Amino acid sequence: MVLDGLVKFWLLGMLATLGAWEFRAARRTPTEGRGLRWPTNLTIWSLNALLVTVPIAPVALAVAGAGRGWGLLNQADASLPLAVAIAIAVVALDGLGYLQHRVLHASPILWRVHRVHHADVDLDATTGLRFHPIEALVSHATLVVGIIILGLPPLGVAVYLGLAAGNTILTHANIRFPSAIESRAGWLVVTPALHAVHHSALPAESERNFATIFSVWDRLGSTYGAQPTGRHENLRAGLEEFREPRYLTLPWTLAAAPPSVLTG
Ligand SMILES: [Zn+2]
Repeated sequence: MVLDGLVKFWLLGMLATLGAWEFRAARRTPTEGRGLRWPTNLTIWSLNALLVTVPIAPVALAVAGAGRGWGLLNQADASLPLAVAIAIAVVALDGLGYLQHRVLHASPILWRVHRVHHADVDLDATTGLRFHPIEALVSHATLVVGIIILGLPPLGVAVYLGLAAGNTILTHANIRFPSAIESRAGWLVVTPALHAVHHSALPAESERNFATIFSVWDRLGSTYGAQPTGRHENLRAGLEEFREPRYLTLPWTLAAAPPSVLTG
């Protein structure tokens, strides 16, 4: 539970750091609407943290699983070096996250929930917090099942959560990076330029770059989309059908997705 709490503090630290970076060196001129976007994105993250982390804290679950011998790694080999077990946890959970993200886009019902994230008309660090509570529950269930079935070590789960949360904030941030560094890093990890393609209002682009930490998943899944130079600076983010300011408010974010699940 202590590590679960530390992951949340780490995420808030990343948010503050990248928020300050956005003020000093923004990549794109921010669009209007921060007065609506920021309270909604921050509030929904707080609600999600209470909804999923308090009932089942992931690292605490991994501790319980290790104590009871649940899952493949706990059963297979107790002498596995810790560094290897941590690497397995990070790679496996990131791969699972990639698959889940593909399903969120492919399933018409789940897309109605995930589109709340894509409906953000601008992209900044707070977009990395904007997930509908139903999506937060789905993601948490995937994580819980992965931890239990694979028997992942608590430290590995904590490292994955820290990297995934940190890179989610980083890749949504509106920050300027030296392009030479970013294009090299993009071979291994997801960068802000790569993830900006995923948030494009053009459907052909938003079906690219689903990964959270390692961009290799998109290469393996044939969904990798390199970004043309300057594309990020001229990005039109969001969804064409949800550009009105009311869609950025907390009531729509919380209430409008579930009824549309029912009404189609
Ligand atoms: Zn998406």
